[in-house]
Amino acid sequence: MIISVASGKGGTGKTTIAVNMAASAPESAQLLDCDVEAPNAHLFLNPSIYETEPIFVPVPEIDETKCTHCKKCAEICRFKAIAVIGETVLTFPEMCHSCGGCVVVCPESAVTETGRRIGEIEKGRAGEIDFVHGRMRVGEAMSPPLIRKVRACRDPRKTTIIDAPPGTSCPAVAAVKKTDFVLMVTEPTPFGLHDLKLAVGAVRILGIPCGLVINRSDIGNDRVREYAADADIPVLMEIPFDRKIAGAYSRGILMIDALPEWKERFETLYRDIADCVRRGCER
Ligand code: SF4
Ligand code: SF4
Repeated sequence: MIISVASGKGGTGKTTIAVNMAASAPESAQLLDCDVEAPNAHLFLNPSIYETEPIFVPVPEIDETKCTHCKKCAEICRFKAIAVIGETVLTFPEMCHSCGGCVVVCPESAVTETGRRIGEIEKGRAGEIDFVHGRMRVGEAMSPPLIRKVRACRDPRKTTIIDAPPGTSCPAVAAVKKTDFVLMVTEPTPFGLHDLKLAVGAVRILGIPCGLVINRSDIGNDRVREYAADADIPVLMEIPFDRKIAGAYSRGILMIDALPEWKERFETLYRDIADCVRRGCER
């Protein structure tokens, strides 16, 4: 079973839910932190890292001795990652999507691929939890290839919990697609509701069942609950604002360690999701 924990907007408490659920799972779980631009699950789990792997993506390299400056490579590139100006071919590796189109169309075989490092993945263990996260290099714009590398570390023998990046664009989709359940974390504010609706729209296109955790549930208003009822999305947990929870978060302590009464609630959350996946709940 793969559970992804997602949120339309950042700062809703997504990582808190992912790490506490992983630590409450009845069997040993795997936590994949796919929020590669700002990974922070490790701050709560303190894993011992046993392997670091640099991740490269292919980008074009031009052999100027073969190039006739025909511009075919620049014409095919939808991302403006290659340009021919006079007798010079310029490449912009940060904008390249590694599609390989320029390599294929070059009539002179002047384009080859070279590897560009975009970040690394780190694997570790935190007690019973298998841990993997990606760290994107500062200034990189293309996180999905790194997210896919983190996803590829999945151990199919374990329950996998994915901490997805916030939002509804390519990185979030790369993290949640082909998962069994998306747990959305939101807060009951107009911003929370707005971004939740976008995220639910994306998840529904992907055909994945979803449920909701309402964090800081005693702020804001009831609109998120009303929306969830109308959209037939189960509210699986509500977490009120609590200084002790905020304090534990700021010190990098798991909520279930700081407030043990929450352990059972996270176990119930996990069980409810597992039941839903087993029953083939509505998408
Ligand atoms: S397609 Fe090949 S030959 Fe034409 S401009 Fe690009 S690199 Fe040069
Ligand atoms: S590999 Fe694709 S995205 Fe990158 S420069 Fe070539 S055509 Fe553009």
